[in-house]
Amino acid sequence: MTAIPLGVPEVPVRPLAQRRVSRQIHVGPVAVGGGAPVSVQSMTTTRTSDIGATLQQIAELTASGCQIVRVACPTQDDADALGTIARKSQIPVIADIHFQPKYVFAAIEAGCAAVRVNPGNIKQFDDKVKEIAKAAKDHGTPIRIGVNAGSLDRRLLQKHGRATPEALVESALWEASLFEEHGFRDIKISVKHNDPVVMVNAYRQLAEQCDYPLHLGVTEAGPAFQGTIKSAVAFGALLSQGIGDTIRVSLSAPPVEEVKVGIQILESLGLRQRRLEIVSCPSCGRAQVDVYKLAEEVTAGLEGMEVPLRVAVMGCVVNGPGEAREADLGVASGNGKGQIFVKGRVIKTVPESKIVETLIEEAMKIAEQMEKDGAGSGEPAVTVS
Ligand code: SF4
Repeated sequence: MTAIPLGVPEVPVRPLAQRRVSRQIHVGPVAVGGGAPVSVQSMTTTRTSDIGATLQQIAELTASGCQIVRVACPTQDDADALGTIARKSQIPVIADIHFQPKYVFAAIEAGCAAVRVNPGNIKQFDDKVKEIAKAAKDHGTPIRIGVNAGSLDRRLLQKHGRATPEALVESALWEASLFEEHGFRDIKISVKHNDPVVMVNAYRQLAEQCDYPLHLGVTEAGPAFQGTIKSAVAFGALLSQGIGDTIRVSLSAPPVEEVKVGIQILESLGLRQRRLEIVSCPSCGRAQVDVYKLAEEVTAGLEGMEVPLRVAVMGCVVNGPGEAREADLGVASGNGKGQIFVKGRVIKTVPESKIVETLIEEAMKIAEQMEKDGAGSGEPAVTVS
């Protein structure tokens, strides 16, 4: 029996760039900006007035890793529900207000962690800023100025011809200046557009012109596949330059999917410690095993694993041993067998039919040991028989 020191996998958090210096606000207990970790948020799809359904969806989002949730507030019934929802939610709740300034006051009074206003469609909003700033300041409620290409202020649409990056930025900074006149700076800003190129340019300009924390979003990004790619590309371009303090992926899909995508984007960019990572090859004419099936079965078997484990699933001996060696756990397949690696060393060779169960079994052992030792401490080991 030989003990192989596993160590806790090294998980370098290596952002591609220094984070942009921004002021910090607090959305409930979640710090946004000022060097705080980039947070992931989403939005419920239930009628907010249906308190039970909304809290149920918030619970699902919380379980998936969502840190901040936004709820729509188009009616008085929705406004009336905010207090209960804000009180019972385990994550901070932001009220999303369009058209009706009176709901901004209702949301602040209800104890929402923040309020999002859309300067493009809050009637008489500019006249109400003084009162909103006072109420928000009295309750310690931050405001998100959420500019959206689809509802840009008509004055700016006429001036710029369309929702250009300049128009989006001008709208946001104009509204921010109204709050600033009343000494209110507890603000974060978004300038969303469905075109990642316009969106990226807008945020770049905004980042240069203010120090408010920025909420990133590609609005109406589309169904899951397209929206995931648009969001990953746009967020990647910005976050790799240090721009962005909180993100919301917008998908025409259940909101839990938005959270999963958001978390994966942050992990991929080194802005968040990775959890389970499957390194699997695309397969090719050399594959001696069904890589897709193997990767899917291993992924399914390890779903929900929280420890930062890298598992390599490789189809043949070309890159297989190399990748399997680099991972915490891996398999290199060939000739109807799989060589199982743990921390770079072959611990056993099993028939192809046993690869999945062996990988899952070994992964569980490593995870258990890591959890016992706590991340970043101890030297867990597996025993090779
Ligand atoms: S590891 Fe082997 S099977 Fe997989 S892509 Fe590379 S060469 Fe092809």
